[in-house]
Parts: sequence; C-alpha cells; structure tokens
Amino acid sequence: MPELPEVEVTRRSFADRIAGARIEAVRSGKPLRWPLGVEPQTLVGRTVRGVRRRGKWLLVDLDHGLLLMHLGMSGSLGFAKQQAAAGTHDHFDLVTSHGTLRLNDPRRFGAVVYAPREDSPQGDKHLGGLGVEPLSDDFNAKEFHAQLKKRSAAIKQVLLAGDIVVGVGNIYASEALFLAGIRPTLPASRISRPRAARLRQAIRDVLTRAVDKGGSTLRDFSNAWGEEGYFQLEAMVYDRAGQPCRVCGTPIKMIRQGQRATYYCPTCQKT
Ligand SMILES: [Zn+2]
Repeated sequence: MPELPEVEVTRRSFADRIAGARIEAVRSGKPLRWPLGVEPQTLVGRTVRGVRRRGKWLLVDLDHGLLLMHLGMSGSLGFAKQQAAAGTHDHFDLVTSHGTLRLNDPRRFGAVVYAPREDSPQGDKHLGGLGVEPLSDDFNAKEFHAQLKKRSAAIKQVLLAGDIVVGVGNIYASEALFLAGIRPTLPASRISRPRAARLRQAIRDVLTRAVDKGGSTLRDFSNAWGEEGYFQLEAMVYDRAGQPCRVCGTPIKMIRQGQRATYYCPTCQKT
C-alpha cells in the first residue's frame, strides 16, 4: 500500500511538470472508491496551478476548484507527454497541454474526487478528520504529547488512526516505535513527555529518510510498487520476525494489532 513517502515522491515526480497546464480532456475507466462528483467535461479548459499533499491525498489545485487524488491500496500515478492506450487497470486520465496524468489501480480503492474548495463539504469529507502533517512545524512535541494523553488505545493503533498525526502507516509506525524505544502495545496515554518527543523525532526521521530514498529512485518511478512496494528502507524491525535485533541481537517479535502485523524488539522497546 502506498504510504506517505510514496505519495510525496509521486507528487514530486510530476508537480513541476503539470503546473500551468490546461486540461484538455478527462477520461474515466471503471468506478473507483468514490465518484468524481462532477461532470468530467466541466474540468476541460481549467488550468492546473500546482500539486500539494495532505496525508496520503494529493491535491491538484485548479484555477477553479481542486482534484483530490488517493492511491488507495494499489494505485500509482504516472505523468507522461504521451501515454499508451489505456489498459485494463488505467481508470483515470487527466489529459493536459503538458502531458497526461494517469491513475493505474488494479484494486480500485483509489479515487479522484472533485471539490470546489478544500473546505467545501466535498473536501471536508476526505480531509477534515486528518491530523497534523508529520513533516510540518505544526507537528510539535508538546501538542503531540497532549493528544496522546487522551488516548487509552495502544500507541501503534493511535498512530495508524491518523487523526493525531497523518501518514504514519504500518511500516513506518513499527520503525518509528523501535527508534523511540517504545513498545507498540503501550497505551498512548502512558507515554511520558520526553518519550513523546523522542517518538515525534523518530517519526520525522523515518519518513524523511523514506522520502529521500524514494527521491533517489525517482528515475524508475514509472513502475508501480505493487504488493512488495515501499522504498525498502533498511528496516530495523519491520518484516524481520525471528531475526536478531540490529541493536541488541534479541529475536524480533511479530504480533497482530487490529489485523495488522506489528514488529518489535522485546528488549529495546519498553512498556
Ligand atoms: Zn533490540
């Protein structure tokens, strides 16, 4: 599943090239997770101002309104001057004067949604409940700790929920909790202020490294990442069950939390 770093690298892969382009046509394939919400023809003639990211959403700003794009479980966006004829899994084309932005999404959990404004009901439905951006200055240790204090759920679940801080998916949550030395099952409310500060920094470090790593592989980016996916960070714990911890040698443990696999070192990560 594309996580925040993949989405950010996707953004960087076409944002500069599409900026200023005029929309010439919109082509839709099979239904996606949510409908576009507007007649595709009404977008023709509008200009793309730029592309922002909010959590795992890409916001394509137009001179009037914006398109919210989500990659879902298996989506990828490609931008090219000339695209081949749409294949079975190509479900949305934004044809512009600078090239065509194409969403390929075999499982169709992705979406392209039109909103007249970011704070319109259409925008708010998808963006309204999102927590702060982990790489922005709004993500500060004091507020993070105050928010964690209110939650009795396990810290990993709280991170995945995305309403305190967005975009910390399954892999990055496991990795950040390892770096911060925090057991994933620990109730969020029991995390002290200094530990919350360490966790905040770990989240930023892990995501920044992944974005940098993805940026360095941008050349190959036309390939969807598929099921294996991800920017193959040198994982400390993720997907390493039974293997020795890179710090202390203790075998890494795997447990399930809310259907998702969690990996941790029972020695390095304290309750
Ligand atoms: Zn360890």
